[in-house]
Amino acid sequence: MTWAATILTLYPEMFPGPLGFSLAGRALSDGLWSLSTVQIRDFATDRHRSVDDTPAGGGAGMVMRADVLAAALDSVPDDRPKLVMSPRGEPLTQALVRELSAGPGATILCGRFEGIDERLFEARPVRAVSVGDYVLSGGEVAALTLLDACVRLLPGVMGAASSGDEESFESGLLEYPHYTRPYIWEGRTIPEVLRSGDHAKIAAWRERRAVEETRLRRPDLIERHGGARRPSPSGARREEEGQDQ
Ligand code: SAH
Repeated sequence: MTWAATILTLYPEMFPGPLGFSLAGRALSDGLWSLSTVQIRDFATDRHRSVDDTPAGGGAGMVMRADVLAAALDSVPDDRPKLVMSPRGEPLTQALVRELSAGPGATILCGRFEGIDERLFEARPVRAVSVGDYVLSGGEVAALTLLDACVRLLPGVMGAASSGDEESFESGLLEYPHYTRPYIWEGRTIPEVLRSGDHAKIAAWRERRAVEETRLRRPDLIERHGGARRPSPSGARREEEGQDQ
């Protein structure tokens, strides 16, 4: 069965947007995943077709109405997880991306304005997801981010060579640095070990660099995963020989 995404939004024209290109775009036209949109405004009930109203208690901006959003959500089949993009949601991680991409798809509600009436989260089994600790103007770009991350993991989307298993976050570490030709650029060379052809040595170097990068840039990742992977004893030995960065 095709992995199916349904986006509930006030701006259906934003989809597939960037996901119509490259890897995700090709997979979409090849039928490896499907995308449909629901216009939230179609579920408004008053003659002005309003989807929002002023915040209870006063303050700036408008709040999206729970009744309209619930009607939009209820119009979508229940066979897939229902997500709401929200800066107050659980952080989007590669683990959550793996979980979602292994399932049947996702229904994603995109907020706008000041936010969403809290009662929606109480009354419907929705999972709030945040793409990071910053505020976007709407959930659409966040939904595109989540979809992009999920779609590239679907079977057949990436080439057989790159299963994604070695990438940043999959091991709890950032990825090792990459290099390509030319060998010398602005006086800088590629680390010698990468030209050695010795796969074990290269693997040990990459492991070591991944740990170093993570310690330096994202010590929180090492803490969260209870310490980085320990290199195998043979890997450690090779590491000592291979200090030729
Ligand atoms: N006033 C709210 C922000 C509303 S932004 C607050 O301070 O928390 C409007 C909409 O953009 C949200 O309803 C949500 O759908 C989306 N959005 C904004 N930032 C986001 C983030 N970091 N992750 C996911 N969605 C986000």
